[in-house]
Amino acid sequence: PKYQSIALIVGVTGIVGNSLAEILPLSDTPGGPWKVYGLARRPRPQWNADHPIEYIQCDILDPVETLANLSGLEDVTHLFYVTWANRSTESENCEINAKMLKNVLDAVIPNSPNLQHISLQTGRKHYFGPFEMLAKVAHDPPFHEDLPRLDALNFYYDLEDVLLNSVEQKEEGLTWSIHRPGMIFGFSPYSMMNIIGSLCVYATICKHEGVPFKFPGTKKAWNCYSDASDADLIAEQHIWAAVEPHAKNEAFNISNGDVFKWKHFWKVLAEQFEVENGDFEEGGEKVSMVEMMKDKGEVWDEIVREKGLLVTKLEEVAQWWFVDVILGNQSMLDTMNKSKEHGFSDNIIRQEKRQQTAYKKSKKHEGQHGKKPTTNPNS
Ligand code: NAD
Repeated sequence: PKYQSIALIVGVTGIVGNSLAEILPLSDTPGGPWKVYGLARRPRPQWNADHPIEYIQCDILDPVETLANLSGLEDVTHLFYVTWANRSTESENCEINAKMLKNVLDAVIPNSPNLQHISLQTGRKHYFGPFEMLAKVAHDPPFHEDLPRLDALNFYYDLEDVLLNSVEQKEEGLTWSIHRPGMIFGFSPYSMMNIIGSLCVYATICKHEGVPFKFPGTKKAWNCYSDASDADLIAEQHIWAAVEPHAKNEAFNISNGDVFKWKHFWKVLAEQFEVENGDFEEGGEKVSMVEMMKDKGEVWDEIVREKGLLVTKLEEVAQWWFVDVILGNQSMLDTMNKSKEHGFSDNIIRQEKRQQTAYKKSKKHEGQHGKKPTTNPNS
């Protein structure tokens, strides 16, 4: 057959969905050649149009629509679930997220006889609780996968339960994996949480208005060790677990395995955007990004017009509440030991090679424009 594996990515325009859509079709991807279906709620965006995938527009909140769109995909072998819904309380989150996953599994499991594996993405809040309980119920970091569930509502626990119940009901052969990233660094203008995207928009607005690029967070966050989960690396872990027998029916943390500090990273961002580094202001008032940015919609529209950018609304490309959460709190780290012990290493090398190539390309590009590169390939 032309394809060895057939993927369905649920949430294909999201921060990890986009990486999966880029990586799965590559010729050296394990388990390939892959055919890829990618599902998301909105019409296919222009920036996604180059990916060699079959795009499915579907709202998985609606069980009838989900069944209608997915029950015909009889060839699917691997399901990658990289989406969620964000409501104002965790109890609503539990209900709605469980429903969405169930709608998808009820449509796919009975109708895709070749389905082998379901890969579910949750996150590090598994260990420190939902945003509304932040720092109130957390385990002591670094977090490892064997820690017990916290005594607090958490939609990640509901997602795991829906997954395990559905897999159990299908008698044999179907495996699963769960992936728990921390703060994700990746590309998606459609993500519900994109910290770097949001900070780039903030830097652009500062530059446009001629004001310094100030750190809007706390001293703790400015100085502590933070870590990131690269979206491509997360995608690699999903793919690794999908094809590697040692990784079946397990939950894995996924982070880059090194640390950084916002105070160093801020300098890099300021340089990249050629804006004055406003640093963290000692003794300064804590500023909320939500508050600071509430009237900047028109400024963004102006930047979009002036620079000829793809037309977006400020609230689509930046999530200020999320910046407030991340930069307001001390980071809590995880450990990657379990992934290493289970053999997740070749994929890390693949991801690093791709980054090196991209870095070399950008260096060449910048060289042509007479600019010196300022970042290193691992940043
Ligand atoms: P995302 O917000 O980047 O993307 C979500 C995708 O799902 C988009 O393609 C969107 O169009 C699609 N979608 C949303 N609602 C839909 C619906 N009703 N029907 C069909 N498609 C729909 O996703 P993400 O950030 O990768 O989130 C996946 C999981 O990762 C979540 O559980 C999240 O909490 C977790 N996580 C995210 C981060 C982060 O920094 N983004 C960090 C840690 C954990």
